[in-house]
Amino acid sequence: ESMKIIESFETELAKHNIEKEIKVVKTGCFGLCEAGPIVIVYPEGAFYSMIKVSDVPLIVEEHLLKGRIVTDLLYKDHTTDETMNSIDDVGFYKKQQRVALRNCGVINPEIIEEYIAYDGYQALAKVLTEMTPDEVVDVIKRSGLRGRGGGGFPTGLKWEFTQKAPGDIKYVACNADEGDPGAFMDRSVLEGDPHAIVEAMTIAGYAVGACKGFVYVRAEYPIAVKRLQIAIDQAKENGLLGDDIFGTGYGFDMEIRLGAGAFVCGEETALIASIEGKRGMPKVRPPFPAIKGIFDKPTLLNNVETFANITQIILKGADWFAGIGTEKSKGTKVFALAGKINNTGLLEIPMGTTLRETIYEVGGGIPNGKAFKAVQTGGPSGGCIPAEYLDTPIDYDNLISLGSMMGSGGMIVLDEDNCMVDVARFFLDFTEEESCGKCTPCREGTKRMHELLDKIVEGKGTMDDVAKLETLAKTIKGASLCGLGQTAPNPVLSTLKYFRHEYEAHVNDKK
Ligand code: SF4
Repeated sequence: ESMKIIESFETELAKHNIEKEIKVVKTGCFGLCEAGPIVIVYPEGAFYSMIKVSDVPLIVEEHLLKGRIVTDLLYKDHTTDETMNSIDDVGFYKKQQRVALRNCGVINPEIIEEYIAYDGYQALAKVLTEMTPDEVVDVIKRSGLRGRGGGGFPTGLKWEFTQKAPGDIKYVACNADEGDPGAFMDRSVLEGDPHAIVEAMTIAGYAVGACKGFVYVRAEYPIAVKRLQIAIDQAKENGLLGDDIFGTGYGFDMEIRLGAGAFVCGEETALIASIEGKRGMPKVRPPFPAIKGIFDKPTLLNNVETFANITQIILKGADWFAGIGTEKSKGTKVFALAGKINNTGLLEIPMGTTLRETIYEVGGGIPNGKAFKAVQTGGPSGGCIPAEYLDTPIDYDNLISLGSMMGSGGMIVLDEDNCMVDVARFFLDFTEEESCGKCTPCREGTKRMHELLDKIVEGKGTMDDVAKLETLAKTIKGASLCGLGQTAPNPVLSTLKYFRHEYEAHVNDKK
């Protein structure tokens, strides 16, 4: 529909001979999926939502020709039913701070000049002409940036380990194998601002001493793959990738490797195996990829959102970035908000924003006047956080202390109608299916947990089964080889911790 809307605007503008005065910019996602397709008319910032092709002639004739905003087509706030004249008034964006998503929904991602017009490739120029690799690593370390793929490991330290690792061939890799159901952070960055990843990976290559990069993207993201390839080609044509970037003698090249959609390939050792053309199965660490990664060479592996922050840290400084967020979690975090929430979409908030602010102010609250029950953070391997913790500031450590995790940024809101035992079963269904089968606790244990959950949900379970489920979950958590198995029991453990009475109700009521 969006492409048809673009075509319709071009036709209507040509019909009125104003196609040279008014530019139609095709952008990536602007976050508020709930209200799409979105059309924003500047300079007013008029935020038209749920636009159809048939609305286009009216916007052109009324707004673009006569200067009268078409009020009926403007976005309406869910909670107040108030019409929002400008994007600046839309509650969804008010608490947001867009660093990683700064260009998404703003520039045309297929045109390098638009990226350059928004300070694109300036960070690369600064790094190559004014900074030593040590200085670049130091800035990233001081910024406090932590890995956005889920682990939260300090990014600067990872860069330093790779830089210091012995070896004259090194690689940079970008993990774009986003697999959590309902998560689309990486996809949106690649679709909306692919040059930011190309530029950041080149900077990383300079910092750690690598001259080749791989982006591992799942093949189910064809638009992301297409736009990233366009960005790589344009960077090469403009001398921003290749043998001698900016005439500095530094060379860096990169290529895309497609993943076939296995969730486990988001785990770093499995991802590396897959890039090498082998079956994507995790390996025991150490050695870590910084020492022995792709083809056994030192490899810096960061996720898309981590890379999306890099150019801004270089341009605005470590202190600027470290000034956002909480003491141990700096900067912003992108979340995909879904489930029982009014404003479904992609948002970026400073670390330290509370769950309540995120769900009620950015997310617009729970639909149909229902009561909030829990929020599942961290994707299928995360945990369910109940209402009494809504005032918790979101950061890596707080989420872990509540039995959940940041993960890559999935956030699924549940209301009073959701059965938490069923929710735990739903997520376990996913992790069981995605287990690679290499180690017994995960391969067999998730199956046995699933059987117990089926029994409990169907009203055939006993309290003994609930106890067995808990023991099994703790054993799998402690004994599994990789992150998938180690975190797969989280939904069960967190629902047992906060919603044990629902398990008991299934057992006692036999339903
Ligand atoms: Fe494979 Fe699960 Fe073991 Fe990870 S924990 S290696 S996914 S079987």
